[in-house]
Amino acid sequence: MSMSSEELFVFFLQVAGISKGKADICFQEFRSANCDMEKFSEYKLSKLCKTLFLQRIISRLSKVYDDPSLRKRIESTVDENFPNIKGDLHVHTDWSDGTYPIEFYVKKAEKLGYEYLAITDHSLVKKGIVQMNSDKFLKQMKHIDELQLKTPVKIIKGVEIDINEDGCLDYPDEVLEKADLVLGAVHFDYGKGEVKALELLESLLENKYVNVIAHPLNKVGKRLFYANLNKIVKLAKENKKIFEISLVPDRIEESDFIVENLKDHDVKFSFGTDSHSTKQLELMSLSNLWLDKLNKNSIANFYEDPIEFMEK
Ligand SMILES: [Zn+2]
Ligand SMILES: [Zn+2]
Repeated sequence: MSMSSEELFVFFLQVAGISKGKADICFQEFRSANCDMEKFSEYKLSKLCKTLFLQRIISRLSKVYDDPSLRKRIESTVDENFPNIKGDLHVHTDWSDGTYPIEFYVKKAEKLGYEYLAITDHSLVKKGIVQMNSDKFLKQMKHIDELQLKTPVKIIKGVEIDINEDGCLDYPDEVLEKADLVLGAVHFDYGKGEVKALELLESLLENKYVNVIAHPLNKVGKRLFYANLNKIVKLAKENKKIFEISLVPDRIEESDFIVENLKDHDVKFSFGTDSHSTKQLELMSLSNLWLDKLNKNSIANFYEDPIEFMEK
């Protein structure tokens, strides 16, 4: 049985952090806009979603909603059983640009039957959005120690670290050393394009503190990634790096590319929902899209201790 158009729409809105009640009202409005997503997002959602962040998510999700083949794939996975995965390895809380405090995500993780949850807030302030400098990260780690006493879910202390133009990471080494999990990410090409982004990706692959390359195609693009595939694989193996399979709905095609091109290269993977709200943790169901193509032994989320697996 596949999801009705209404259910999927409401699911998307909930994923974007809107309550079920509000999402139902939205659907009624969506109908009166003749189910034209573009029109709807412009006129109605801007009123409901006060923050730019939510608007951005909605506009990204609406692209998926409007693509029939992608939509069909998402519908089918959301209907399947929730994957038997031990935890999520990419989550943002209100310590950076996520919506809720850490404990909300932990509670949700408990409900999902997870053994662990990695909190991986963004490192520095970029483009004016409040994120987390290294002092704040150290504070967060202490806070997690306190929260840990109240939950059976192991909270992994992670960070999604940015790489600066000069190839250095946002935090000093002595701070990175303390983190359980470091997701390295290229979010900016510093106005210099894909070749620069590739150079930064290679720096991340060589950096001893980075465990996982988050959304590996970001800024680099499929063409350049493919052209340098052998080098990228070699660096990942030499330096024990994991490739993230991102479960953000509008990154599905990128994740298809990662799985197709890397699955036969004996490299390791991790699934991450890149959640910015608790509902988004349910996007883990999208991992069903690739589970039959990959060896479970190559995926960190199936291990009791994903960090130990990464460092092996
Ligand atoms: Zn990111
Ligand atoms: Zn992220």
